[in-house]
Amino acid sequence: LEETNKLCKKHHINVKGCVEKVKPVESFQELFDRFPLNLQLVDNIKNFKYETPTPVQMQVLPLFLEGKSLKVVAPTGSGKTLAFVAPLIQNLLDDRKLASDESNQIESIILVPTRELASQILSVTTRLCYETGIRAHIITSTNDDHMKNFHKKKTNILISTPLKLVHFIKSNAMKLNQVKWIIIDEVDKLFEESNHGFKEDLDQILAACSNEKRKFALFSATTNKEMTPFVHENLKEFATVNISPNIP
Ligand code: ADP
Ligand code: MG
Repeated sequence: LEETNKLCKKHHINVKGCVEKVKPVESFQELFDRFPLNLQLVDNIKNFKYETPTPVQMQVLPLFLEGKSLKVVAPTGSGKTLAFVAPLIQNLLDDRKLASDESNQIESIILVPTRELASQILSVTTRLCYETGIRAHIITSTNDDHMKNFHKKKTNILISTPLKLVHFIKSNAMKLNQVKWIIIDEVDKLFEESNHGFKEDLDQILAACSNEKRKFALFSATTNKEMTPFVHENLKEFATVNISPNIP
């Protein structure tokens, strides 16, 4: 525990919450040594050729792999995408081993405020999913053809803006009752008051994600008080990770 506290201090990581502390990983090799990750996923991570994990990755990779719900605040550009996509893929693969079959159900959703961000996340996710058997897709349009084609695809990770996803839910084109992971990226922006209708959209999405075991991982660069009621109603047990910006 002392060592964990020392590492957190060194990398400006602050963790709170009703879960036990998990030691940050100081290198990708340490991540691979401590966690029995899928070997293809390890290769896919190595292919990014990053030298060391960023502070948010050091703490969030192990916490997420241990299956904790999370609320993470870390500066823009600090590498949050890989911090949630890589462990998400591993957790989905682990679930699959338990179920001993391939799932064609949507098992996780990543909600984002804009379509551009959705495509950025898809591109990282596609690289990390490469040959793991996990598939990610993005909802780009709400027209009937696109919805019909979606049915035919195998989708384990669904990336979308809330509005587009609600459209799919309403038209009965999407079953979300098996969703185990709900990730919301740039959650501070989604909860901004100017973002009309988001809370109603979110209510509909959560109603469709009826799996009792669902967990949440929320990511943002700033804290937004507007989201506090949602966090306390839905996250139950969770860890809060704060990474302070590097002040020279
Ligand atoms: P955030 O979502 O926190 O704003 P991103 O996930 O978009 O950050 O990553 C920002 C940039 O940092 C991307 O170009 C990404 O490729 C790069 N990056 C991510 N992780 C690392 C790392 N461990 N080392 C170096 N660069 C990284
Ligand atoms: Mg981001």
